[in-house]
Amino acid sequence: MDILVATRNTGKLIELRELLGDSGVRLLSPDEAGITDDVDETGATFEENARLKASGYARAAGMYAVADDSGLEVDALNGAPGVFSARYAGAETGFRQKMETLLAEIKSSGSASRSARFVCVMAFSGPDGNIAFTAEGICSGSIAERPAGTGGFGYDPIFVPDGYDRTFGELPPDVKNEVGHRSKAARAFVRYLRDFIGV
Ligand code: IMP
Repeated sequence: MDILVATRNTGKLIELRELLGDSGVRLLSPDEAGITDDVDETGATFEENARLKASGYARAAGMYAVADDSGLEVDALNGAPGVFSARYAGAETGFRQKMETLLAEIKSSGSASRSARFVCVMAFSGPDGNIAFTAEGICSGSIAERPAGTGGFGYDPIFVPDGYDRTFGELPPDVKNEVGHRSKAARAFVRYLRDFIGV
């Protein structure tokens, strides 16, 4: 079975390939499937965006496709940056600056709350664009006072997962593989493939 992974992020592709192991599923990148157009993320929720990307890529390639959408929700900012995480403080702004802006916004919100969560929704589409499966993975935690560590990517240096006292930037990668939002959603997707499609 061939599945198009609707992302230009090779890290996500490698992660899924590892989870699917020797299941017989072949995961293809958009380049490998000859898809050059991107799908606009115009949805208001992670699920809408994941569905849009999975359906759009599936129809374009005439193949099964899986997509994910993810981001960081901060309670003191009423759930921001949420679906705008990648574009927060400007699409071209680096993550050092995005994290500084986020820390400053929490401070000026006047809220004492540091609670936050990473959310990932994964959607799987048939070649006709109909969504067959979605899964949500949540990783709860809190926002650190300042960035720490160089591991991971994005907002990892300011996110402390529940049960730990260091950021994802400081913790070893296997902690994120265990408790991370994307791995939780991906594991649910892999279970679905094994249970319902029998890969
Ligand atoms: P996506 O690729 O459209 O899902 O955008 C996700 C954005 O959310 C990324 O650019 C990051 O800003 C943020 N994000 C999602 N997952 C993580 C993570 O695991 N660590 C740090 N930042 C993340």
